Amino acid sequence: MNRYYKNVILCGEIDFYCLLCEESFELAEQVERHIRWEQHRKNIKNLSYIPKYKKDCIFMIGKYYYCEICNYVTTSVKQVKNHINDSTHLFRTKNPIITQKASDVTRNKNGLIKYHNMIMSKFEWHGIVNNHCFLCNTSVENVEHVKQRDHMIALVQSEMRKVKENEYNRKVKAF
Ligand SMILES: [Zn+2]
Ligand SMILES: [Zn+2]
Ligand SMILES: [Zn+2]
Repeated sequence: MNRYYKNVILCGEIDFYCLLCEESFELAEQVERHIRWEQHRKNIKNLSYIPKYKKDCIFMIGKYYYCEICNYVTTSVKQVKNHINDSTHLFRTKNPIITQKASDVTRNKNGLIKYHNMIMSKFEWHGIVNNHCFLCNTSVENVEHVKQRDHMIALVQSEMRKVKENEYNRKVKAF
């Protein structure tokens, strides 16, 4: 996973998003191919840490701050300051994580998602119910919505949670 983090690939439970090239992926094989892609390699080469946050490995990518150690994205300077003093961040700077987020989620060939013992559609997984996206808190006009950058950032940074038997929701963090 460290390799993905260093490649600015945001990693969700079963979703990946390249913040640099603005492309989403559902399979690790696609990510592997992407990080070898010439244009992606060029984009990576052009990156440098924000001088002030060099030891914390924070990049600025457009309007986003990106922590390479935690795979964390925010648009707020205040959140960056909180983040670099966060115990998880401090621990990880000394103990890089190499495992993927633990989860009980799989995607089958038809694109359906199995989460614990529930089956849900791709849109439900993305937090979209009755043309409303709960991640972005906006109405969804078309299927392209799931490819949008802010949506993908919200998706990979949120967690699906079991509320009670056969009921779930997504906990969204502000970014
Ligand atoms: Zn890329
Ligand atoms: Zn961090
Ligand atoms: Zn959305």
